[in-house]
Amino acid sequence: MESRPRALDSAARTPGTAGSIGRPDVGVAVPFPVVPALAELRRDALACTRCPLAGGRTQVVFGVGDPAADLLFVGEGPGEQEDLQGEPFVGRSGRLLDRLLHEEVGIGREQVYIANVVKCRPPANRDPRPEEVAACRPWLETQIELIEPRVIVTLGNFAARLLLDTTEGIKTLRGRSYPYGQAFVVPTYHPSYVLRSGSVGATMAGIRADLIRAKEHLAVAV
Ligand code: URA
Repeated sequence: MESRPRALDSAARTPGTAGSIGRPDVGVAVPFPVVPALAELRRDALACTRCPLAGGRTQVVFGVGDPAADLLFVGEGPGEQEDLQGEPFVGRSGRLLDRLLHEEVGIGREQVYIANVVKCRPPANRDPRPEEVAACRPWLETQIELIEPRVIVTLGNFAARLLLDTTEGIKTLRGRSYPYGQAFVVPTYHPSYVLRSGSVGATMAGIRADLIRAKEHLAVAV
């Protein structure tokens, strides 16, 4: 996969203005800082107290990978291991994601970027609440703006619904791709759902097909 040089500090960006699909529907009262680059965004995010999830976290799980990646994965939120280790998708579902990435796209996690809708672990792994998603949304939108991926693979309902600004479920949404600014969103199942559904069968076949779709987008010359 090509890796583009990026003048990360060439322009200060205003978080929360990225993307063409979907706008926050919950007002966020706290002003959001203007940041020049992903490293600075990360530094700011590590101190975030924009929602109550901050009170229960071990650490902020900002994201990991190539800051100029063409392929971005967006999950739901950190689980126990991610909260402890500070890196997204390091547990069982992460190992499945790594394997499928290798088998279907032919690359490793260091060649992509991996982030989540919410950066702090919800207590007992409950679903993130709408106000938590709204408070965290500018971090993800700014990550997308700075990374400028060509393809965004959303994992599960939360990421797909947020980026596509829809209430449809993943079973309806997956199987095609959607324009998102200059990029494409390819919605697929969350790896933990694939694990729960068994290692063979329609769900596994579906996530594999979606990753092949993502690879086909990446293969198109720009
Ligand atoms: N599930 C997610 O959605 N994100 C992670 O980082 C880990 C598990």
